[in-house]
Amino acid sequence: MFLGGAQAPAPKNISGNLLHMNVHEYQAKAILGKYGAPVPRGKVAATPDEAAAAFEFLGEPQAVVKAQIHAGGRGKAGGVKLVSSAEQARSFAASLLGKPLVTHQTGPEGRVVRRVYVEAASQVSRELYLAMLVDRKSEAPAIIASAAGGMDIEEIARTSPEQILTEPIDITIGVAGFQSRKLALALGLRDRQITEFHNLLGALYRAFFDTDASLIEINPLVVTSEGRLLCLDAKMVFDDNGLFRHPELQELRDPEEEDPSEREASKYNLSYVQLNGNIGCMVNGAGLAMATMDIIKFHGAEPANFLDIGGGADAQKVAAAFKILLSDPRVKAVLINIFGGIMRCDVLAQGVVEAARQVGLNVPLVVRMEGTNVEQGRQILNASGLKIIAATDMEDAARRVVALASSK
Ligand code: GDP
Ligand code: MN
Repeated sequence: MFLGGAQAPAPKNISGNLLHMNVHEYQAKAILGKYGAPVPRGKVAATPDEAAAAFEFLGEPQAVVKAQIHAGGRGKAGGVKLVSSAEQARSFAASLLGKPLVTHQTGPEGRVVRRVYVEAASQVSRELYLAMLVDRKSEAPAIIASAAGGMDIEEIARTSPEQILTEPIDITIGVAGFQSRKLALALGLRDRQITEFHNLLGALYRAFFDTDASLIEINPLVVTSEGRLLCLDAKMVFDDNGLFRHPELQELRDPEEEDPSEREASKYNLSYVQLNGNIGCMVNGAGLAMATMDIIKFHGAEPANFLDIGGGADAQKVAAAFKILLSDPRVKAVLINIFGGIMRCDVLAQGVVEAARQVGLNVPLVVRMEGTNVEQGRQILNASGLKIIAATDMEDAARRVVALASSK
């Protein structure tokens, strides 16, 4: 989990970039390696035999076999193991592949491991934390570093935040030598390591900038027993808005790691992000969607999702969006909050009625609708026979939907 901004796991993070793409560790390391960051040699494997072959290929006395899922916390969950033979690599891979791995970042259902990464093992003398992200406070990319790297960084961030250093990057200059030196010394690096660290930051920043990344996280960045710096773990997240410029990155997308609802939503070009609450929200316009989530929280409940159906949605798109909401078992009540500008209220109403007929409406539905053709829209909803609670305004809508969701 990254340390910048809100404490939301990146796959569900909506406070930074609304839409973003994760890649696997082995893919992130390949990218960072190309930019000159020191990463261990490794080979990805999809079967136990491939894992054994990868061990032979590396030709090292020891290797580390690592589960590849879009979540951290693998070490503590038994998803990372040091092995000393091809046989051991094979049997550990066999124990992981095809099964869910549950870590503190995956939720109780875990993530199915479909690949493992077999990497030359390193002798570790120290574990540091290093990340680069878009820092909202300084409105710039920033370097986050800590001498207390490794598997307990979240705990450190909570209990001793002073051990976490932040250094904003001036985009007209890049990472300046004095910044690298300042951080390196604070991390306890010396002599040649300071130059290595500066080179590493340069490589990370070039990768960050070129790929339109929103996050690079190296945890741990290690000092090996020979005193060299090495990126032992790597996570990269890319801003979806920049992806059209990077067809090679789009190919790294792993749909099996994406939330099925989010996948369905992207088919219809809906902006959808799943959250942890129980009120399903369907809204048009990102601003109104944010305001709707805020007002739900203000009334003491949590939204189950962020969903922006956009300005020019047709009935089919509305129906698709509504179905996604209703298919989420955690949703105890739905709030539709639409301002009909470009979007017409009658079109919205048609879509809602269509979807409700197809999948059945088994939770209370509160609708707040204003704007173009609002009267026709209300008539369609009233004539539908569906049990719909019409709200007078946003405040009223939020209060009602929160009461309904909590009484269930
Ligand atoms: P995460 O738990 O999902 O973040 O996975 P990591 O890639 O960070 O691995 C977890 C831990 O395994 C690291 O913090 C290291 O302590 C350890 N580890 C991983 N690779 C090696 C290695 O090559 N040598 C040693 N000694 N430890 C390793
Ligand atoms: Mn890690």
